[in-house]
Amino acid sequence: MTNLEKPVPPGGTIGIVGGGQLGRMLAMAAARLGLQTCIFNDAPDAPAFQVTPHHVVAPYEDLAALEAFADRCDAVTFESENLPAHAIARLAQHVWVAPGAEALAITQDRLTEKSFVEKLGLKTAPFREVSSAEQARAAFDDLGGPAILKTRRFGYDGKGQAKVTSAEECVAAFGNFKGAPMQGSMPCILEGFVDFAFEASVVAARARDGAFAAYDPPENLHEHHILRRSTVPGRLTEAQGHQAKAIAHKIAAALDYVGVLAVELFVGHDGGLTVNEIAPRVHNSGHWTIEACQCSQFEQHIRAVAGWPLGSPVRHADAVMENIIGAEADAWESLARSGALHLYGKKAARPGRKMGHVTRLLPRGSK
Ligand code: AMP
Repeated sequence: MTNLEKPVPPGGTIGIVGGGQLGRMLAMAAARLGLQTCIFNDAPDAPAFQVTPHHVVAPYEDLAALEAFADRCDAVTFESENLPAHAIARLAQHVWVAPGAEALAITQDRLTEKSFVEKLGLKTAPFREVSSAEQARAAFDDLGGPAILKTRRFGYDGKGQAKVTSAEECVAAFGNFKGAPMQGSMPCILEGFVDFAFEASVVAARARDGAFAAYDPPENLHEHHILRRSTVPGRLTEAQGHQAKAIAHKIAAALDYVGVLAVELFVGHDGGLTVNEIAPRVHNSGHWTIEACQCSQFEQHIRAVAGWPLGSPVRHADAVMENIIGAEADAWESLARSGALHLYGKKAARPGRKMGHVTRLLPRGSK
């Protein structure tokens, strides 16, 4: 990987691969620090294009376009783990990229991710590799039901997931997860179903020198596999909060991670924490940090990528962040009255599409 010998100074350019709402909020945070951003996106109507004049539109596999983009940037990061790892590796030959290609490769595949977490001695749902119909049957017989079959790659917001309650269902679900035409079923894992009390996450940052800063972990509520609400503080006890931050620290250090990452957790009825997944990027459950903390997750990520000192993650208010999904955005006037409103500038409000979010603050400790 190309080294970053000195921090990127104000006026320098941070490249962001991916121009969705996360890229947009990263670009806005960078601008506040006097840094420029250049966004690489595979379609011309990216929400992030509206907040910075520097863009590249090309497929993520276009190596020549990636190289030309790298030449325009002092450091590069990305807003999604669903990018070809070889594209990030190619960028890294030309420019400092954070997080690194290895962290991306481990976390974008559920099998390598879960194996990595398990090796660190952290708890995960029991899991088995499923690459054939025979393995689908054997995995279900081994784990028992109910269980969840997940594609190893390119799943988000519940896409590429099926709950199964018999070996037959498991085999059928595997048959349904087709890759490109004629390529057969996509490689999957089968996970035992975790009977959790609630879900939580921890968003944290690690700098190049190993400095680490974690935000207070919110409690997260999902509806139809999409995050509906993050509440901080949620039901996590102080001890669980410390444990969640320690889990994020262990994972970030083992990945030699630079930037912000999120660890999604299941909180068991016995109070134990199980790692669900790692997101190698800023995360929806950390959006409340924009208003409630001195340094938001977006600014923190830009600071880490640019080699700046990390900012304070201390939380100054209690907060509830609610996503605005699909046609809910039509009610923008009443939403604007209800809290800190963020709209992402997306034109079409398709069902399930994240259009914005609203954060409501309360004085700290008042909840
Ligand atoms: P994921 O894409 O892995 O984050 O899963 C999306 C959502 O599905 C999670 O936030 C949980 O609500 C649910 N889920 C995923 N895996 C499991 C599991 N092994 N047991 C129970 N619920 C799960």
